[in-house]
Amino acid sequence: MTSLASARRVVIKVGSALLVDWDSGSADHAWLTAFTADVARLRARGQQVLVVSSGSIALGRRRLGLGARRLSLPEKQASAAAGQSLLMHAWEQAFAPHGVTTAQILLTRDDTEIRRRWLNARATVDALLELGVTPIVNENDTVVTEEIRYGDNDRLAARVAQMIGADLLVLLSDIDGLYTADPRRDPNARHLPVVAELTPEIEAMGGGANAGDGVGTGGMATKIMAARIAGGAGCATLVTLGRRPAPLQAVEAGERATVFEPHTTPAAAYKQWIAGSLAPQGVLVVDAGAVVALRAGKSLLPAGVRAVEGRFGKGDAVLIRDADGREIARGLARYDAGEADRIKGLRSDGVEAALGYFAGAPLIHADDLALARG
Ligand code: GLU
Repeated sequence: MTSLASARRVVIKVGSALLVDWDSGSADHAWLTAFTADVARLRARGQQVLVVSSGSIALGRRRLGLGARRLSLPEKQASAAAGQSLLMHAWEQAFAPHGVTTAQILLTRDDTEIRRRWLNARATVDALLELGVTPIVNENDTVVTEEIRYGDNDRLAARVAQMIGADLLVLLSDIDGLYTADPRRDPNARHLPVVAELTPEIEAMGGGANAGDGVGTGGMATKIMAARIAGGAGCATLVTLGRRPAPLQAVEAGERATVFEPHTTPAAAYKQWIAGSLAPQGVLVVDAGAVVALRAGKSLLPAGVRAVEGRFGKGDAVLIRDADGREIARGLARYDAGEADRIKGLRSDGVEAALGYFAGAPLIHADDLALARG
């Protein structure tokens, strides 16, 4: 079972209610100082951490003097624009004493749903994590309209976890997990430490509990939705109380949390998605050497490609066949069909000369390949 101690890549969602002191309307530096120490502890153990942080609208509305009234969408977007820089500043200041470098990433729903765009975003986040940076992600509220926005960062965090193959998603909440009923109203409510299966009964428990969140947007229902998205991608979800100085340490010391267990691993879920859910848009016919390399877990290089069929774009799924027409694998192309045709048979050093730019050596990276059975 994935736990806080064993996870390799952890996405932690921090809501506005934790980060913004509602009375003053500014960032809660005391909480941030303690929380960043908690995150630094995970990093010191070699774990990669990405933070999904809300708070831009809550900080910005105060900065713009908009008070506590209901905001129109343009006012929310203006608040996000004014607040996002305050939010980043607060994170930078809090992480700096721990020697942790942060980087801002603002995403829209398209960035997590359109394959070509998320491949790009994934490459950037991967690079940051490999460089030891802690990315701070938020929705790009300033440019998204109501119809196309996530609106809540629980689901955004789940999509990010899916995108980067995280094995643990932590949702810091105003309650220490999932209860059979709202514990503030029902004395018989029972806490559930582990959810092995997201049954309709479990979904129904999201109803009343955790509804009293005044600053952020998500309640327990969106947390369960997030757990479903993450679980489908092989990522466990942990929900716990955020309003304490070191919530991660508290959970490791045995404080209450609910863990939603996935039924697969991130790598297996990703390969299955490539193999089963995407309609291939083209075919790459490869030579015998490439077949051996692919079966040994290597990437597909242009040198091994003999023919390119179909019209596919960057990020589309393609079939890989041998010269006899047998399916060897499926994968996501890093070049479109026209480019693939121009670089087929070329050694990697010839690719840049042929295209005038370089997008990395493999035509399909090993991470984005699912081998056919047999
Ligand atoms: N993206 C919004 C913000 O930064 C918050 C969304 C949420 O609260 O989940 O204010």
